[in-house]
Amino acid sequence: MNQTEQVRLMTDKMAKFVGYIGKKLPDDVIAKLSEMRKQETSPLAKTLYDTMFRNQELAVQLDRPSCQDTGVLQFWVKCGTRFPLIDDLEALLKEAVVKATFETPLRHNSVETFDEVNTKRNVGKGTPTVFWDIVPHSDQCEIYAYMAGGGCTLPGKAMVLMPGAGYEGVTKFVMDQMTSYGLNACPPLLVGVGVATSVETAALLSKKALMRPLGSHNDNPRAAAMETMLEDGINSIGLGPQGMSGKLSVMGVHIENTARHPSTIGVAVNVGCWSHRRGHVIFDKDLNATVTTHSGVQL
Ligand code: SF4
Repeated sequence: MNQTEQVRLMTDKMAKFVGYIGKKLPDDVIAKLSEMRKQETSPLAKTLYDTMFRNQELAVQLDRPSCQDTGVLQFWVKCGTRFPLIDDLEALLKEAVVKATFETPLRHNSVETFDEVNTKRNVGKGTPTVFWDIVPHSDQCEIYAYMAGGGCTLPGKAMVLMPGAGYEGVTKFVMDQMTSYGLNACPPLLVGVGVATSVETAALLSKKALMRPLGSHNDNPRAAAMETMLEDGINSIGLGPQGMSGKLSVMGVHIENTARHPSTIGVAVNVGCWSHRRGHVIFDKDLNATVTTHSGVQL
C-alpha cells in the first residue's frame, strides 16, 4: 500500500469510528448508567434512566446519533514518532470528520468565530481540536475521540488560586461550578478536574481526565481520596438523572495533576454528560485498529 492509500484507509477508519461513537456509548458508561439506575428509588429517576437506555437502543436500531448535539470533535492523539502517518495525521483527522459529518450524518456544529458562519462540515479554523502527546521510539498511534457537546462544555472553568487557598480552595472551586452550572450538562456527569500551575495546564488536564475509564483513580492516594470525596459531595447535591433530582449526580470525578509552582494552584473543571461519547482506538504501524472502549467494533 502506498502512502496515499494508507492515508485513505486511516481516514475511512476514523470516519467510521467517529460516526460510531456518536451512536453508541462506550461499554464503561453503559455499565455505570445501568448500575446508577439500580440505585435510584424514585419513579421519575428510574423512568429517566429507562429513557436513556431506550435512546441507546433506538440510536442503534435507526442508525442515527443518540444525541442531536454531536458536538465539536476533539482528538487526543498519543502518537509514536515512528508511526508511518504521523505527518498526515492532523489533516486526515479533519477529513475524517467531514466524511463522518455526511455519512453518519452529524449535526453541523462548527461556526467560524467572528464571521458567525456555520461551515456545514463540522470543521473550521482549528476544528477539530487535536491535542498531541508525542511518544518516542513507538510506531503505534492511540487516538481518543471525543464529541464535546455544548451543554457539557458550558460548566467548564479554569482559574489560578492563591496558594493559601489550598486543597479546600480546589474543592470550593469544583463545588461552586457544579452547584451553579452542573445542570447545563445533562446529568449524571463525569467531572474532570485538573490541578497544576496555570490555567492552560490545568484546563488541558481537566479534559484529559475525561478520557480515563470510569472507575479509574489518580495514581496518588491523596488525589484518589479527593476524587472520592468530591464524588460524594457532588452526589449529595442530588441532581439526579437530567437534573430532575435523585440520589446520584455523577458517574465519577477524575483528577489529573502535575507538579506546580509553590505560589499558585491552577485548577480547572471540565464536564462530560450522561451521553459521554468518547472512544479510544489504537492503530499499529500496519493500520490495524483496535478499539478498546466499545466491544465488538471492527473498523
Ligand atoms: S449535555 Fe450531552 S446529552 Fe445533553 S444535549 Fe448536550 S451532548 Fe446531548
